[in-house]
Formats: sequence, structure tokens, C-alpha cells
Amino acid sequence: MWGSIYRFDGQASVFAPSMDPDAPCYRCLYPEPPPPGMVPSCAEGGVLGVLCASIGSIQVNEAIKLLTGIGDPLVGKLMIYDALEMEYRKLKVRKDPACALCGDHPTVTGLIDYETFCGAISEDAADAAAGSTISVVQLEHMLKERSEGTRDFVLVDVREPNEYEINRIPGSVLIPKGEFLNGNALGELPSDKPIVLHCKSGVRSAEALAVLKGAGYADAVHVGGGVVAWVNQIDPSQPSY
Ligand SMILES: [Zn+2]
Repeated sequence: MWGSIYRFDGQASVFAPSMDPDAPCYRCLYPEPPPPGMVPSCAEGGVLGVLCASIGSIQVNEAIKLLTGIGDPLVGKLMIYDALEMEYRKLKVRKDPACALCGDHPTVTGLIDYETFCGAISEDAADAAAGSTISVVQLEHMLKERSEGTRDFVLVDVREPNEYEINRIPGSVLIPKGEFLNGNALGELPSDKPIVLHCKSGVRSAEALAVLKGAGYADAVHVGGGVVAWVNQIDPSQPSY
């Protein structure tokens, strides 16, 4: 009994190859995991809270049907829920003969660590961050020098405004990651000062860093561990999330 939610939409289905040899599996529907760096964080993508209940109810309903043997389960069918239009649609999903898992010549025979895989940063971001990552301890030192007038740089927080409301590194300015991806941020940044980027944990700032490096900001760096590390190691008086 599978369900997924994202922003204002939800999906549900039942994958039960054991019940029907012609039933599709999850990989027949979604053959490839998303590439690293493409999965938005909850803060960026977000989800309407009540969707958990809407889609969860469908999953429970399907479980009860299977356990009691009544009704027609969502095997080979994909339920799509649009909360904004308040609309349900049902699509047929067929078994893919070339499926990497349940097809005629399977190539996927074991599990990988999807949490690590899907949360991983893109190759560009990893390249940009290599040798251009500072610690929160280094940042604290740099901020001290900046306040004493012996150093100058711009500290940019690439999180979303609602995250900035919760906690922040003092002296940072907020320019969300999306502004880097669409190019608007480049016009707001000085080209004659070093740029230091940070986010919540260091994933989004690495993606933004790749954009900056690509635009010629060779000495830009980002903060490993982000504001989470700042609160843990430097300023535990701030709330975490
Ligand atoms: Zn399959």
C-alpha cells in the first residue's frame, strides 16, 4: 500500500506482484530514482499537512480491503489526488516487460541506501564544494574579524524566509537558493568581495555555490553543516528545526 505527497498533490497505489503476475511494481511506474540534487527539501517543496490524512486514509482503506478480501484493490491502478481542484483521477498502470526489477531481465536485485542517494548533492555541487568549504568555527572567526574591520566578505543565507525567521547566523543576508538557480542573485552580489554561502545543512548552499563558481566567483565558499552546525557548536541559545 503505497502513498506519496508533494505540495498539493498525492498519489496512491497497491503494488502486489504476488497477487497477480501481471501486476506492475513501483519501478514499472517510476523506473529511475531522481538524480542527486533534484529532490527539493521540505522547506523548498513543502506539503499541505492534511494531505498526509487524505492519502493515508486511502492506504489504510486498501490495507483493510486486502486483509478482509473485499472490494477491488488498487493493484495496477494509480490514484492521483489534486487537493486544490479537489479532484481524484485513476490511471491504469501496466507491468513494464523491460522493468529493471520485475521485468524479463532484471538488473536490480538488491537495495541501495536511497536516503543517502536521493539526498546527495549533484556532481557540480560536489565539485564546487571541494576545497571551498569552511567550518562554522572558521566562520565565527571570520565574522569577528569582519566586525573588527580587518576583513570583508558577504555572508549569504540561501534558505527560505520562513527558515530565516526561526534561526540565523548574525550578519547574514537572505537570498533563497532559487534566486541563484534563476540567475537573479548574481545581480545582487558584489563582485569585489568574497562571498560565503550557508543554508540549513550544507546541501543547498553547495548547489548555489556551483552557480556562483560557474559565474566566475572563484573565491566563493560555503559553510559545511550550515545553520544546524552553527546552533550546535556556536550558539545553542537559538532554536533548531
Ligand atoms: Zn516492475
